[in-house]
Amino acid sequence: VAALVGADPHNVIFTASATEAANQALTPHWFSDGIARPVATAYVSAIEHPCVLAGGGFGPEAIVRLPVTPHGTLDIITLEQLLKLHDLTRGRPLLALMLANNETGIVQPLAEAAALVHAAGGYLVCDAVQAAGRLPVDLKGLGADAIFLSAHKLGGPKGVGALVLADEAAAPAALIRGVGQERGHRAGTENVAAIAGFGAAAKAALADLVDMPHTSRLRDRLEAAVTCPAPSSHSPNELRSLSPMALLPARFAVQRLPNTVLLSLPGAKAEILVIQLDLAGIAVSAGSACSSGKVKRSHVLDAMGIDPAIAEGTIRVSLGHTTTEADIDRFVAVWSGIARR
Ligand code: PLP
Repeated sequence: VAALVGADPHNVIFTASATEAANQALTPHWFSDGIARPVATAYVSAIEHPCVLAGGGFGPEAIVRLPVTPHGTLDIITLEQLLKLHDLTRGRPLLALMLANNETGIVQPLAEAAALVHAAGGYLVCDAVQAAGRLPVDLKGLGADAIFLSAHKLGGPKGVGALVLADEAAAPAALIRGVGQERGHRAGTENVAAIAGFGAAAKAALADLVDMPHTSRLRDRLEAAVTCPAPSSHSPNELRSLSPMALLPARFAVQRLPNTVLLSLPGAKAEILVIQLDLAGIAVSAGSACSSGKVKRSHVLDAMGIDPAIAEGTIRVSLGHTTTEADIDRFVAVWSGIARR
């Protein structure tokens, strides 16, 4: 697990989920070299996973939501302005910014954000759940003080995650206290079988990173096949008038995960699209997969200012290292049939 993210193995704290790791990281109680360095405010990007948006140990008055640009990346200028206004005498700032968004696949400006928050005397925690195993992740290069991971997003077992510290000298207080397992960072006897499965999945994911250029090509093939040509379009909302099939982030000059495709059929309902694709034997998700079963409009697309008619007809298609060109062609044929109907 440490090798997957370029960390020191001593700094990997195994937890029961990424959600638990997020709750541990999002605390007012941080320490540097064993000295308490309380955090006053959590600055949280509006597109975070609900396990981060919930704010961990911070009350609602101590959480500030940060806007994103229409292209789905953190609004760095707003962050900079807010950090300038931050009153250090009340405590430090803490920024929660994910490495890649789970719905759009859009990679966030971690290095820039890290420089700003560290200059303001704060901490940066980063949800790397979707990025790990899809992009090379180098914890030191990222500039985050802590990242969190989830085994089941890498093909490992459910019910195991990790909080990985850049340097044990800067750490959040333990969330679960008791005996001193995980070097005192997380009490409770470790789930060794699940952790071993996590390790095996991390090893395989690291080896499979070489397949990612191929996955990107498949993603691009899919997107090119379902999208009308509109090279001058800069805003996803503009796509609506161009074609009943609109692809949200396709033409954006942003870095994205190789495996995530976001498609919209404006005016359609995402749950209907999911059912129709399911009947054809194709598994996709509407909104965030972890909350599947209750389809509500995506807070991520809302934060990007996407027109509700587009957002409500948006599905996410995830590719894996076993996806083939034939799978893509079949998807395109089925999707086109649904769109025509
Ligand atoms: N963060 C992201 C981006 C996710 O997609 C998920 C989904 O599972 C989580 C966090 C939560 O992980 P876990 O299921 O291990 O709590």
